[in-house]
Amino acid sequence: MEPTFSSGLVWFRRDLRSNDHAALHHALRQCEQVHCVFVFDKPILDPLPRADRRVEFIRESLVELDASLRALSGRPHGGLIVRHAVAAEEIPALAGRLGVEAVFANHDDEPGALERDTRVRHALAATGVRLLTYKDHTVFERGEILTQGGTPYTVFTPYKNAWLRKVDAFYLSAYPVENRAHRLAERPQWVRGGVPALADIGFEPAGLDKLPLPPGMAGARTLFEDFLARIDRYDDARDFPAVKGPSYLSVHLRFGTLSPRQAARTAHARMQKGSAGAATWLSELIWRDFYFQILAHHPQVAGGASFKPAYDAIAWEDGAEAKERFAAWCEGRTGYPLVDAAMAQINQTGYMHNRLRMVVASFLVKDLGVDWRWGERYFAEQLNDFDLSANNGGWQWASSSGCDAQPYFRIFNPVSQSRKFDPKGRFIRAYLPQLAQLPDAHVHAPWEAGPLEREAAGVRLGDNYPHPLVEHGEARKRTLERYAVVKANTGPA
Ligand code: FAD
Repeated sequence: MEPTFSSGLVWFRRDLRSNDHAALHHALRQCEQVHCVFVFDKPILDPLPRADRRVEFIRESLVELDASLRALSGRPHGGLIVRHAVAAEEIPALAGRLGVEAVFANHDDEPGALERDTRVRHALAATGVRLLTYKDHTVFERGEILTQGGTPYTVFTPYKNAWLRKVDAFYLSAYPVENRAHRLAERPQWVRGGVPALADIGFEPAGLDKLPLPPGMAGARTLFEDFLARIDRYDDARDFPAVKGPSYLSVHLRFGTLSPRQAARTAHARMQKGSAGAATWLSELIWRDFYFQILAHHPQVAGGASFKPAYDAIAWEDGAEAKERFAAWCEGRTGYPLVDAAMAQINQTGYMHNRLRMVVASFLVKDLGVDWRWGERYFAEQLNDFDLSANNGGWQWASSSGCDAQPYFRIFNPVSQSRKFDPKGRFIRAYLPQLAQLPDAHVHAPWEAGPLEREAAGVRLGDNYPHPLVEHGEARKRTLERYAVVKANTGPA
């Protein structure tokens, strides 16, 4: 195919890799010369704390991406242009200065990103430059999977079945880059600055190097290979936070250092060879696609609206007591060990095990009576893998207001969850050393231990570990009353 454009610009956003990349692939096919850029976008970065693991992860991943593009181009000054600016202004300006005829990027369906891309599209169009965008972040997106009636799915299982019926080698195959990489352009003199140091963009190190979270494509490869050796056991191991069960790949899927197609393709092939673990893992990747398309079709959820509007009638706890309860939850001092250990995990590492995300979200909403949006915001600040669609989906699932949520009267008991999924308290002991000496029977609920047992274990309630903030049975009753308004609005559940 003859190139259509003499030169183009690939705008990397949440797809920080140089393999199996839709926008890069299409740019290399359609342009004689291809420039690549990443913009540290000021409107996104400015509100963040100055030490943010995600900014550090992105920065480290860009160093590798730059080196990889340079190597692929075979030119000493090939590679990535990196800017620190307002992307919506910088991309048109850069396109003008480089004299490209088209800008290539991958779809991003978050409302803020769509708005930014519309601004860029208009600014580019004013100078005759096109913005061409492609599906890349999911296997299926937007309206690709619809019900027989032509409407988007809002329930997961039928969506998953339709996904599995539709998927084939075409949808799972990679977008090759290497075969036309010689078209990657030499950077002009004025944009050869390389990847800025964290300090140059106003940030400081956040301790990423102390986490088991290697960045970049190489990091993704390491974690993926490690996971593939145990993927067959995923369905048995994934629910136990003290066990190395899940893949820990969410950050890499978030920033695109791992190709979502590669992940799905590998899991799909293993599933077809009979691996139940791979089938369950593929299901999780389908949840990811599911929530992306929910956000694309129902952007109002990003603005704080309940997916099911009846749930917006719920009156949450408010005032000073709610704020104190929320602070106790954030800081891991609710007096419920599994909840507190989970909050210590997110605060210390930016990761939280999926089972624990469900437990702490349910606890905040249905034990403490605090609005799920407060929890959603806290997770958005803390999670390395924060993704608007999955995070909103997870919170609305836990609060029962979501598309395919658990019913409002299903309320996790934090102690039973602890006994079931951390039976020996290994996870609790790792994050709450002050409880480490309690016997297995009491580590889930220290207030149930006798005073002598607690003393022997060095646990002093109200001193080195809090009394439970609420009594679960009473909290449960209050929650059912609180949710009665939903029942009144929607009829019997
Ligand atoms: P694995 O078990 O190895 O799963 C593989 C991949 O599948 C994950 O990396 C992720 O990309 C995807 N996935 C798994 N579960 C889900 C799910 N329920 N919804 C969508 N995708 C899923 N996931 C995020 O990526 N970002 C978030 O901001 C986020 N917030 C959440 C908030 C709440 C309240 C809940 C209950 C869940 C949230 N999840 C979120 C989903 C899930 O907890 C994480 O994806 C998972 O724990 C990441 O760990 P892993 O990569 O080891 O997962």
